Amino acid sequence: MAHKRCEQCGNQTPPWDTIHFGSGDGGHELICTLCFNARIAESNGFTDFENVRLDPVRITDCQGEPHHFHFQLRLLGDRIALDAFELRGEFRAGYRFQLIGEADDDVFVLLGRLVEKIRRALSVRHIDFHECRIIDSTVRGRIEWDESQAGRVPLVVVDGKEVSGDELGRMLMSMEGWQFRLDIADPSDEV
Ligand SMILES: [Zn+2]
Repeated sequence: MAHKRCEQCGNQTPPWDTIHFGSGDGGHELICTLCFNARIAESNGFTDFENVRLDPVRITDCQGEPHHFHFQLRLLGDRIALDAFELRGEFRAGYRFQLIGEADDDVFVLLGRLVEKIRRALSVRHIDFHECRIIDSTVRGRIEWDESQAGRVPLVVVDGKEVSGDELGRMLMSMEGWQFRLDIADPSDEV
């Protein structure tokens, strides 16, 4: 998949680093994250916002497998969202993490907190993918869209890997008769 041209600065930008920016007349432009933040900062008067592009980092999970995390920093009104994600090709896939801060927070302090959060999450494994079973009694993950199911059954991402609703169901069936609790949390919460 080719890079997209930012309609403001003209730079070729990977799809994960672009944002559809709605204009007043109902249309929208595809712009890069840096141009998006500059527009928000200008309209809100946050002249000292640190509009930076953060370098990817490599973090190893408890199985010794390396994960490359890319970052996107977005200024959203008076708050900032810092997202960390893995890529498959040029698209987000695998682990994803988010931290919400205030517009005047130090971006590098937030980055440090996000990296700590990633390390905590990668230090735990929930599913034995060889034996197709839940290792302990807790599973943490993310609910995603399953293209093959047209929205009827979720795809969940656990330990940075995709698990179909069917696979999850089979894992649960090895615990027939047990109780469970289902908690849904905001993308930026730590579960
Ligand atoms: Zn741009």
